Amino acid sequence: MPTIVLHQPQDLVNIAAAVRAMANMGLERLTLVDPAEFDPWRITGIAHRTEPIVEAARLADTLEEALADATYVVGTSARPRTAQRNYRRPRELAPRILRRAASGNVAIVFGREDRGLSNEALDLCHEVMVIPTAPGYPSLNLAQAVLLVSYELFLAGEGTPDELPTGRRSLGPATTAELEEMFVALEAGLDRAEFFKARKAESVMRIVRTVFGRTGLDAHEARLIASIGYQVRNRLERLEGQRSAAPEATGPDNRT
Ligand code: SAH
Repeated sequence: MPTIVLHQPQDLVNIAAAVRAMANMGLERLTLVDPAEFDPWRITGIAHRTEPIVEAARLADTLEEALADATYVVGTSARPRTAQRNYRRPRELAPRILRRAASGNVAIVFGREDRGLSNEALDLCHEVMVIPTAPGYPSLNLAQAVLLVSYELFLAGEGTPDELPTGRRSLGPATTAELEEMFVALEAGLDRAEFFKARKAESVMRIVRTVFGRTGLDAHEARLIASIGYQVRNRLERLEGQRSAAPEATGPDNRT
């Protein structure tokens, strides 16, 4: 079952309305990241009979911490910001979210009322969901956005039998923590290869994230790609070391 993640919600009434929407649509897993206010008693006073969701809610200090064990992360945004992302409508993404939730932790992230999700927060998301609206007024109330997304998940889940994990992958899908490690490694390798001399690291890495966001790597694949990045970095560092060393200082590794 997907987890609803509210990033820095500012208004307790919105948390309550989001919890109510989750209960209406059969979602139970909630994570609150650095909420301005969290008072289970008041929340359940507004959204009656939601104690199971509120009592089990996870509190996290940072979004990275909240998403560390997630294998598929979908962000939400009122409007596309930078071009280099995978933007999707909820109706299109809902079946995929349910499928992914059968074999890993899926998180759907909602931003704060006044600012939405930052670019750094959206970088942690594999895809970004935009609820279609009238063009001149795209920004929905936080809890209403949660309701519409949860409703699409509910409709997509109706009539579909629970899918079993395929078992094809021995290690299961890569977690956010594993993917972040992979991006660090790739960036280190590209940096050593001077790839960022003529290109902006931030936008290159955003495209790399977008591409991998579409593919759904398993843990083994993520580790292999991380090794590619580290190997490139290490090898280039060694070559550079040899070049600057005296000619007679040849080690067992100097085969050129
Ligand atoms: N002023 C902010 C709006 C934040 S609304 C901005 O312009 O970005 C609070 C949250 O509700 C958003 O971060 C997003 O998670 C969700 N939301 C609001 N409208 C949405 C829409 N049309 N599609 C998807 N999510 C939406």
